[in-house]
Formats: sequence, structure tokens, C-alpha cells
Amino acid sequence: MKTVTEKKNMFIIDYIKTVYNSVRSLLQGMKLTGYYFTHHKEIITEQYPEYRAPMAERFKGEVVMPHDDKNEHRCTGCTACELACPNGTIKIITKFETTPEGKKKKALDTFVYHLELCTMCNLCIVACPTDAIKMAQTFEHSVFDRSQLTKVLNKPGSKLMEGVE
Ligand code: SF4
Ligand code: SF4
Repeated sequence: MKTVTEKKNMFIIDYIKTVYNSVRSLLQGMKLTGYYFTHHKEIITEQYPEYRAPMAERFKGEVVMPHDDKNEHRCTGCTACELACPNGTIKIITKFETTPEGKKKKALDTFVYHLELCTMCNLCIVACPTDAIKMAQTFEHSVFDRSQLTKVLNKPGSKLMEGVE
């Protein structure tokens, strides 16, 4: 059975050990901080989001449909991408337009893209006969509401580029 004095001494020794270990650990951390402070080139941590390192060329983040400055795209609404997609990520809604010659012609109405389902397999891009869609390197897709990941790729009021069949 330990006496009160012995218990008190043990407590003081434990206390001193804890303080010693804490100061030692702090100094070790400060030493490393000081090292990188004077060796900037060796820092590998990226200051995201202020700094965004360029992505690797092969990185695929999202299917997009480029439009030119006249709000025109290259999608004919042929549905080849929808058929090529293995998991129903794409839904093409078409409409009929009347050509200047008075003929009815199928055209894209809405290109629905479910980003939350997309595996970035690239099959839709390869299947497109008019290069209407491509892979973008965007990657910050976090949202609070899952429905925000369902996107319409053709912009409002856009139309098929002249000469694309
Ligand atoms: S990249 Fe693959 S999964 Fe995504 S939409 Fe295209 S075909 Fe479908
Ligand atoms: S994106 Fe290409 S493959 Fe898909 S509907 Fe449009 S033209 Fe056809």
C-alpha cells in the first residue's frame, strides 16, 4: 500500500514527464516547420483550392457539349451516344423541325445527362458521329441535392450548327 507522500511524488513525476514529452513533441514539429520554411522547393502539399494543379491529360470528369459563340452545337439527336452508354446515363429527347424546303427533320430537343451515374467510360464520345460531345476535366461535382447532378447539355435556345448532318 502506497503512502500519500509516495502517491504525491508519483503524480509529480508523471506530470513532469507529460510536460517534457509535450515540449519535445512541439519542438520536433517546429523543427519540421522551420525546415520547410527554408526549403520551399521540397513542399509537396498543394494549397487547394487557391492552387489547382493541372490534371493529367487522360483525366475525365464530365461529359459536356461544346457550343460556339452563335449558341450552336453539333448534336443531331441521332441517339448513338444513348445507345452506346452501358448504364442509361444519357437520355436524348428529339423533336421534328421543318427545313426551308418544307421537309420534316429530326433534331435535338433535350440532351439529359445523369452525372451521378456516369462512369466516365468514354463510350458515348467515341460513338458520336459528329463530335458533338467531349469529356471535360471538371471534378468539383459535390452538391447537397442529388437532382442537381442531372444536367441538360444543350444550352437554352441553341441549335444545330450549319453543315452538320
Ligand atoms: S462516359 Fe460512359 S457512362 Fe458516361 S455517359 Fe458516356 S457512355 Fe455513359
Ligand atoms: S451527341 Fe452525338 S451521338 Fe449523341 S445524339 Fe448528339 S450527335 Fe448523336
